[in-house]
Amino acid sequence: MRIKDALATVRPFFSFEFFPPRDDAGSRQLLATIEALQPLRPAFVSITYGAGGSTRARIVALAKEIQQQIGLTVVAHVTCVGASRAELRALFDDLARGGIENVLALRGDPPKGGAFKAAPDGFSHANELIAMLRRNYDFCIGAACYPEKHPEAPSFESDLAFLKAKADAGADFLVSQLFFDNEVFFALERRARAVGVDLPMLPGLMPITNFDQIQRFVAMCGATIPPKLRVEMEARKRDVEAVQDLGVAYASMQAIELLRGGVPGIHFYTLNRSPATRAIVSSLLAASAWRSTIMR
Ligand SMILES: Cc1cc2nc3c(=O)[nH]c(=O)nc-3n(C[C@H](O)[C@H](O)[C@H](O)COP(=O)(O)OP(=O)(O)OC[C@H]3O[C@@H](n4cnc5c(N)ncnc54)[C@H](O)[C@@H]3O)c2cc1C
Repeated sequence: MRIKDALATVRPFFSFEFFPPRDDAGSRQLLATIEALQPLRPAFVSITYGAGGSTRARIVALAKEIQQQIGLTVVAHVTCVGASRAELRALFDDLARGGIENVLALRGDPPKGGAFKAAPDGFSHANELIAMLRRNYDFCIGAACYPEKHPEAPSFESDLAFLKAKADAGADFLVSQLFFDNEVFFALERRARAVGVDLPMLPGLMPITNFDQIQRFVAMCGATIPPKLRVEMEARKRDVEAVQDLGVAYASMQAIELLRGGVPGIHFYTLNRSPATRAIVSSLLAASAWRSTIMR
């Protein structure tokens, strides 16, 4: 199913993000995680691209296996950083031949410690990749958005202008970077609507399961941990289970408020693990959290 159509019709709408494992053992473990989450009937699962040394062939094979054998709709992330147009065309041809209808078109991050460098005939920004996809393929195209602005952007206004460029280039839907304060997401949504970006915008939530790890992530992606949440996490940091319990409770409360604020669904960064996401989504389903939606 195309995500644009799913977003207009499917409720409740949950999606789960996974990263491709390096080897066959990791792939088997990931498929077990996906099968554990399948009863929650996600609208799609997404497969990240570019990190961890996975090859193009492995990513395409994994996307096909999830879609064809497990029966879940896949969104394949694709990044243009460092790739030539021919390499990108080969990837998109493979995905299209494999029956993948949805892609999340991204620039990608520079290699660790290195600077961003486009390939000589490649693309520098996601809007260029989206325009190429729109001209040459029939994918439903997603793009990234940043409630606390992209870390490289000099200002929120400039990031918003480039978000509009991605919408104008032909993006069909948006998925947000992770955040822990719903107001930053609602503020992005209001500002995006004000500049004419009217695409469905899925908030991305990452349940905290490990405090050190989340601190590394937020430092990389420019997200903020609100002071009160930080205090509660600090108080539990030597107790793994207590951190996980708080992470699940906090993300559940975030999700309920977002759904009541009118978001079309929630995208979960699962880190290839099922328990936290399963607990949160199960509680949202049990409480029919999406039914009491009020539009802002
Ligand atoms: C939901 C989600 C999923 C992700 N999945 C992956 C993944 O699978 N693999 C991976 O490697 N990374 C992934 N990332 C990280 C992403 O690649 C990085 O955040 C990257 O630095 C920016 O990607 P982008 O597509 O937003 O880039 P862009 O939209 O190109 O923006 C990058 C920066 O350049 C600015 N900019 C945008 N367009 C222009 C322009 N035309 N001219 C000048 N400046 C411009 C923006 O304001 C921003 O500061 C993901 C991020 C999100 C939010």
